[in-house]
Amino acid sequence: MTIHEFCFPTTVRFGSGARHELPTALSQRGWQRPLLVSDRQVAQLPFCQEMVTVLTAAGLKPIQFSDLGGNPVKSQVVAGVATFQQQQADSIVALGGGAALDVAKAIALMAHHPGDLFDYEDGKPLVRPVDRPLPGLVALPTTAGTGSEVGRSSVIADDATQAKKIIFSPRLLPALILADPELLVGLPPAITAATGMDALTHCVEAYLAQGFHPMCDGIAVEGVRLVGRHLRRSVAQGDDLEARGGMLAAAMMGGVAFQKGLGVTHSCAHALSTVYDLHHGLANALMITAAMEFNQVVVAEKLATLATAVGATPTAAGFIDWLEALKADIGIPTQLGAVGVMAEQLERLVAIAVTDGCHQLNPRSCTTDDLRALYQAAGIG
Ligand SMILES: [Zn+2]
Repeated sequence: MTIHEFCFPTTVRFGSGARHELPTALSQRGWQRPLLVSDRQVAQLPFCQEMVTVLTAAGLKPIQFSDLGGNPVKSQVVAGVATFQQQQADSIVALGGGAALDVAKAIALMAHHPGDLFDYEDGKPLVRPVDRPLPGLVALPTTAGTGSEVGRSSVIADDATQAKKIIFSPRLLPALILADPELLVGLPPAITAATGMDALTHCVEAYLAQGFHPMCDGIAVEGVRLVGRHLRRSVAQGDDLEARGGMLAAAMMGGVAFQKGLGVTHSCAHALSTVYDLHHGLANALMITAAMEFNQVVVAEKLATLATAVGATPTAAGFIDWLEALKADIGIPTQLGAVGVMAEQLERLVAIAVTDGCHQLNPRSCTTDDLRALYQAAGIG
């Protein structure tokens, strides 16, 4: 596969083997001591070890930081900043999924900024400004889901309360993305399916979200088309590089498109992750059908456009049927109850979902009764 370059919204080098450009990319920018941020599992994989060897052989001094796992929390960022400073790192390489990316961005922010990470929480009164240059950040995504590599925000939870805080600044956008489908080859089918459903949900919800953003709309529709072509194959044949590449592109497109906004699927999913620690992509996958059935009365035409993009019957019902078939084919359970989500937590889920900002831009406004009905329609146990 040829390696392509495009600069939107940052420089992306895309294609099989793109990871091999890392030593040159760092050296050209004058970066000698990269902090290599990855989670514990990725750190054990051959390509991570290979990267350390190759960087060292090129005369660079990589410093590994892989004390991460699960959803990102502030203590991981604090530890990463300490390593960055003690080892006098001069740049950051994020190798991993959304969690590693988010931690890497937050380390980049706090490497040269004073105070506490949460002083920079988006929308907080007296929020501290992100007004200093950040160390250069290179992202090598190993999942196709969150699209965090093209995003300008980082979501980090408080260790004690698990409350998620959003840090936002255009300076958090990586300077370079090396998008290499070969890095996704070993991803297990269940993670491929769940992360892929997150990418799909970003594209679908961005397209349906309220607001005028024809550029995001165009990207979102093409992202849905790519998921339609490539997600089943990525799950069934993990070494299909064309399918992996298609999903890697779709995930970045979802990440760009949701600048416009998301919707009620994400509000319900965020509550499921808070209460049950469910994987974010799986939570979206479990909610999206009920959410689209709720939305279809106000966005039937748009859902029909998405149905056309994936080759389904060109109606809202056609798109919803396609979603159900896709989920069945890639092994997503049909009911919330199947993953242990039970009615005794229903009111807590509703209370969290209603305070989540995503549904504010949903095409159909949601009351607490609507949210309760959505969880019930999604098969709460
Ligand atoms: Zn998401």
